[in-house]
Amino acid sequence: MARNTIHKSATGRPKAAPSRQPKAAGAKREASRQNPPTPASKRKPPKQKPSKQVPSKQKPWTKAEIEEAFRRLREANPEPRGELEHINPYTLLVAVVLSAQATDAGVNKATRALFAQVDTPEKMVALGEAKLRDAIKTIGLFNTKAKNVIALSHKLIAEHGGVVPRERAVLETLPGVGRKTANVVLNVAFGEETFAVDTHVFRVGNRTGMAPGKTPLEVESKLEALVPPAYRRHAHHWLILHGRYICKAQRPLCEKCPINDLCRWPEKTTFMANA
Ligand code: SF4
Repeated sequence: MARNTIHKSATGRPKAAPSRQPKAAGAKREASRQNPPTPASKRKPPKQKPSKQVPSKQKPWTKAEIEEAFRRLREANPEPRGELEHINPYTLLVAVVLSAQATDAGVNKATRALFAQVDTPEKMVALGEAKLRDAIKTIGLFNTKAKNVIALSHKLIAEHGGVVPRERAVLETLPGVGRKTANVVLNVAFGEETFAVDTHVFRVGNRTGMAPGKTPLEVESKLEALVPPAYRRHAHHWLILHGRYICKAQRPLCEKCPINDLCRWPEKTTFMANA
């Protein structure tokens, strides 16, 4: 049952609680009359702090510097490979879908046994969502990922004869497949010169100043435009591995970095001094 709030006066006699509501509402109405709200279209966007990893006034890399950086990365690792285990384009596609917000090592641990039994969309559909869920339950977001893998397998069978398509736009119509996944599949399974921008490539592109961008697509477009032909096939692998093992998010190993002298990150010397 609702009760009225009773306040006591100085004399101890009860008196009704003063209500401020109408006054406040009135004041609000008055203020709004004097300062009518700005239409959404004219409102200024909120100021955003610049990201530490997006060097705003860095000197752009020259063509010779870019060439030199990739020459050194290639020298250190002539045949870079992705670390997701797979058997064929289909298992690669599944592995990349499963790898969203998960580590390659974690995905491999779950898929090793799975792919030994299930390496086609038909076999995946026959396995079913419940058993797939159980097989990948150690991977984050496994419920959604299991749903997507079963749905994309159905779609591959119904629309592509059970074969993984080679066009990015078509790949992107599959459940759970975005631009990055499509780029990995095109590059690794079909040898296309695509640039899959994951968290490591995004960080390295921005931190070094080689391919700065506020979105993965922006970084990808910069890499598309600047990576010399001889390095395009493996560029994204070199950058992923560089980001994963050297230019780490928390504590980049600048003292071991083969492109240290070319990197534009203002904080790199701090790490070197403390190394
Ligand atoms: S110098 Fe440091 S910040 Fe620059 S690329 Fe190398 S590891 Fe990354």
